[in-house]
Amino acid sequence: MSPTTTGTGAGASSGDALNAEALDLDAQHVFHSWSAQDGRTPLVVAGGSGSRVWDHDGRTLLDFSSQLVNTNVGHQHPVVVAAIREQAGVLTTVAPATANLVRGRAAESILSHAPEGFAKVFFTNAGADANENAIRMARQVTGRDKVVSLYRSYHGNTGAAIVSTGDWRRVPNEYARGHVHAFGPYLYRSEFWAVDQEQECERALHHLERVIQAEGPASVAAVLMETIPGTAGVLVPPAGYLTGVREICDRYGVVMILDEVMAGFGRTGHWFALDAYGVVPDLITFAKGVNSGYVPAGGVIISEAISSYFDERVFPGGLTYSGHPLAMASIVAALGVMESEGIVANAARIGRDVLGPGLRALADRHTVIGEVRGMGVFWAVELVADRATREPLPAAAMGAVKAGSMARGVLPFVQDNRLHVVPPCIVTDEEIAEGLAAIDATLTDIE
Ligand code: PLP
Repeated sequence: MSPTTTGTGAGASSGDALNAEALDLDAQHVFHSWSAQDGRTPLVVAGGSGSRVWDHDGRTLLDFSSQLVNTNVGHQHPVVVAAIREQAGVLTTVAPATANLVRGRAAESILSHAPEGFAKVFFTNAGADANENAIRMARQVTGRDKVVSLYRSYHGNTGAAIVSTGDWRRVPNEYARGHVHAFGPYLYRSEFWAVDQEQECERALHHLERVIQAEGPASVAAVLMETIPGTAGVLVPPAGYLTGVREICDRYGVVMILDEVMAGFGRTGHWFALDAYGVVPDLITFAKGVNSGYVPAGGVIISEAISSYFDERVFPGGLTYSGHPLAMASIVAALGVMESEGIVANAARIGRDVLGPGLRALADRHTVIGEVRGMGVFWAVELVADRATREPLPAAAMGAVKAGSMARGVLPFVQDNRLHVVPPCIVTDEEIAEGLAAIDATLTDIE
């Protein structure tokens, strides 16, 4: 599909009029998340294909955001769309307690990419409820209460998930009990006065262990972490950190939950980000990339040990739409095309040979870039007002970065003082060159 063929079927209206109608209806009737309702100037998105989206007038943007870092197979992949259509003609809803072929196939496909020792998949509607249910499993299995997570993290916008989140978003929502936070490794702004990654790793592990000891290990059910904290700035952990966390969890009988909602299913150039570290948690949570968000879906991948704990005990949790047929069909199709089209390998190659080197070359030219971090198609460019003090670039300048990128045809993902460069895993070399040129020109303007 191309921009000129999109629309709502209301043939008589011009693209401009449809854009205006979308904005007007949105302003009047839609209540938005994480935002004041007035004064918003949202982008109109009417259609998309591959790495691009467009409005009703055909104005096209290269999607370097993957929306909310979820369109791993790109927009409107024809095989995935066809699978959803086909499933819609057969069965569009089914109770979770039934046996359903497409659900079984989706679970089988997910497990085929997980490390050894994982037995089953519990399906949810998104990432937040995946974490919610993983926490519940950990509490059931250990008979303990507390969850230790990182200050620099995002785990979703429901009861326990938002309180596990470390940033400001937990504060107005802090009603769940039993949550404790710690600092993770982040050498560029080290909390531990570390001078290199090795020291940062060692000190962050010591800090985590001291938090668990001080809370009382007998009260700690789980450590919940994003394998690579994403929204907090693609904080790629140093070698040895996650395996060190695994050892600490084993020492105190704590369940290790890795949140792969953003980092999973190809984004890092691995099926799971944890594959890059050789770490095996007890529970893995996922959503987003599992089906590129074509139908809401998420879930928990459960180790054999935790799964068998529930062989003769009831797991007190469930959702009407757990394993929804449209979501399951989209998962089977999305993972199928990721395999057949080598999409994970493409993300790895792009990160290693094109995007990583391209961003580092930008850092050589622009003093406003403080640090570049990432792997695969999962990168953050940290922008600073002063390289020596590392003072973050102020919000107004970040607004100009966003506006400048969009004026040059690139939809960025701007978070605090960072430009997250997170295109779909199918992105091409030419598209990366196009996007980097727009960022380059925008940063020249800012400086
Ligand atoms: N976990 C991580 C790491 C995320 O990035 C997100 C969303 O951005 C979530 C959980 C929550 O997922 P959802 O918005 O699908 O509930």
